[in-house]
Amino acid sequence: MTRVFNFSAGPATLPETVLRQAADEMLDWHGSGMSVMEMSHRGKEFIAIHAEAEKLLRELMGVPANYKVLFLQGGAIGENAIVPMNMLRGRSGADYIDTGEWSKKSIKEAKKYCKVNVAASSEADNYTSVPKQETWKLDKDAAYVHICSNETIGGVEYHWTPVTGDVPLVADMSSNFISRPIDVSRYGLIYAGTQKNVGPAGVTIVIVRDDLIGQALPITPSAFDYKIQADNDSMFNTPPTYTIYMAGLVFNWIKAQGGLTAIEASNRKKAAVLYDHLETTSFFYNPVAREDRSLMNVPFKLRDESLDEAFLKGAQARGMVQLKGHRSVGGMRASIYNAMPIEGVVALVAYMKEFEASHG
Ligand code: PMP
Repeated sequence: MTRVFNFSAGPATLPETVLRQAADEMLDWHGSGMSVMEMSHRGKEFIAIHAEAEKLLRELMGVPANYKVLFLQGGAIGENAIVPMNMLRGRSGADYIDTGEWSKKSIKEAKKYCKVNVAASSEADNYTSVPKQETWKLDKDAAYVHICSNETIGGVEYHWTPVTGDVPLVADMSSNFISRPIDVSRYGLIYAGTQKNVGPAGVTIVIVRDDLIGQALPITPSAFDYKIQADNDSMFNTPPTYTIYMAGLVFNWIKAQGGLTAIEASNRKKAAVLYDHLETTSFFYNPVAREDRSLMNVPFKLRDESLDEAFLKGAQARGMVQLKGHRSVGGMRASIYNAMPIEGVVALVAYMKEFEASHG
């Protein structure tokens, strides 16, 4: 068996030990005589799996007791609509910070439900930075302030938490969720798809302060009403049981690594290997402002784009896959989520040096 270094932006690489455990438990989970896939979501086995996943996540992130943790469906793209439906709470508009492709998608969708005030944008620098908070034109009557904490395509990440006073801060954390410790109490709502740092695709995790729920727009589908889902332990409809199980295994793996503090240290080390190399070469470049560079998604381009195909082919031959940048921006992108071992990043940099030496 040969496993590749998979730099996909998501669905993404998972810890090998987690995959092995899932394989061991595939046919008979803990003597139940069934696979987790075959269990009723109302049975005692799955209820225990679900409760354990939530408990571990609360523990890892230090989620305060007055926050609900929901395991929903619809993805982060679904949340672009579900958030305004639930979070407007009688107000007419919301503030959005525009830092790239994913915030633009959130803004476009929210406009169907409310007045959107784009309070700041980095469009002018081609989305290579996070606008400084001093420049934000926030509306004090906004229902919430929405950010994308890590732009998966542009490779731009917030390394600070915005201060929004009494207006709840809402963050799409899809691509940097549980990559480092955060203070959940600074947010009104956090959402993230699972297919990057948490497990397989299929679940959207929503962490929401409980005083903010219960005022969804009447048109909100019941399955997407946070209050209804909270009152039903995220089982108002049949949840994606297997993904929740896998998420629990991944949370356990993170705990065994030493929790989010240790994961952050590992992520910083990995990102530094790549960014330090990008500093030393002009053959490759990354356009993002240094202080806003993502620790999770590292886009880079070859100065000579005619070499892109050869670079990707050589990477593939060396067991490094999914390095092609998003179709909207081209170039390369290395996604180096929690489960990417440092050996993968070291191998990539060695290959970049080798490629430059033979093509530079
Ligand atoms: N937001 C961000 C930051 C993302 O990276 C992605 C997926 N790449 C999405 C939203 C959309 O997620 P989904 O396709 O699961 O709805």
